[in-house]
Amino acid sequence: MNSFAGPIGTAAPVIADKAPMIDPFGRAVTYLRVSVTDRCDFRCTYCMAEHMTFLPKKDLLTLEELNRLCSAFIAKGVRKIRLTGGEPLVRKNIMFLVRELGAHVHAGRLDELTLTTNGSQLARYADELYDCGVRRINVSLDTLDPARFKAVTRWGEFGKVMEGIEAAQKAGLKIKLNAVALKDFNEFEIADMLRFAHGRGMDLTVIETMPMGEIDEDRTDRYLPLSKLRADLEEQFTLTEIPYKTGGPARYVEVKETGGRLGFITPMTHNFCESCNRVRLTCTGTLYMCLGQNDAADLRTALRASESDDYLSAAIDEAITRKPKGHDFIIDRQHNRPAVARHMSVTGG
Ligand code: SAM
Ligand code: SF4
Repeated sequence: MNSFAGPIGTAAPVIADKAPMIDPFGRAVTYLRVSVTDRCDFRCTYCMAEHMTFLPKKDLLTLEELNRLCSAFIAKGVRKIRLTGGEPLVRKNIMFLVRELGAHVHAGRLDELTLTTNGSQLARYADELYDCGVRRINVSLDTLDPARFKAVTRWGEFGKVMEGIEAAQKAGLKIKLNAVALKDFNEFEIADMLRFAHGRGMDLTVIETMPMGEIDEDRTDRYLPLSKLRADLEEQFTLTEIPYKTGGPARYVEVKETGGRLGFITPMTHNFCESCNRVRLTCTGTLYMCLGQNDAADLRTALRASESDDYLSAAIDEAITRKPKGHDFIIDRQHNRPAVARHMSVTGG
């Protein structure tokens, strides 16, 4: 049973491993993304089919098990954890895990605990997230038009997300908005979204759509290279490259007219793998060493094999030796099947 912990989580002290995780290409793995559930209260058209088959609940790791896995990664040098999904805030009792992981931030063992959310539950959880040590979050928002919002999320409510953003800012959380750039959908709205975000002290990052999992439409129709979007934006804005980094794959520019930052995540047109510092854990305990590859390691068996973390630590080490150099997404009409069969909601983006 997952129980709600006290005001500061009770996470056991972590014994730091002597050897940090270095992959075969010399990259240190310091960032863990955890998909805490594959379920979601939205059905974004580029992410999921409307009638998705989700994992049976019995296959999910408990929140205690996820906490133990995360702690093992912290002991091995992970400094940043992002909770994602599916929608992380729809997992029952999720604040238990947030509080436990927040204790590592309070203790200086973790530099950052953050999450990526669709914003639907933020009004409810914003204060508690801040209280647990979360300081920055990413909110996914693809449009400012309520009707278009409904069209892309199918089940989402625009007003609720706006309330969530407001509550999060009021609670003191710094927000970055993430928008998937979609041809003939929001490509001409990005300029307005930029003004909206920057006018409220939020960064904005645009993302290319990636070929992951079967959906109900053809992604080729919606694929928009960010090089094109950037050229369009440059007709209205002065964009200057800046070295700003958040530990993620975005490359940032400063927008002179708004004074804010705009990030580009370009998995399709630009390979961002050379500086990859992260691995991805699913809610069943599968570790993916690359978002765009199928190779994975089963950590659940190692986790359950023993109460000591020795097996687990060895299984993590073995997985890191298999971290590939990079991915090679292709999106065109000749390749009309997803490059990776699993949906983004499994590995969490
Ligand atoms: N539900 C949360 C949310 O929407 O923020 C977290 C999980 S969601 C899978 C994480 C991010 O992946 C979101 O910003 C979403 O827009 C993005 N995403 C989902 N499917 C994608 C795809 N096929 N290509 C590019 N980005 C995608
Ligand atoms: Fe849910 Fe996020 Fe996927 Fe949208 S992008 S369906 S909010 S997991």
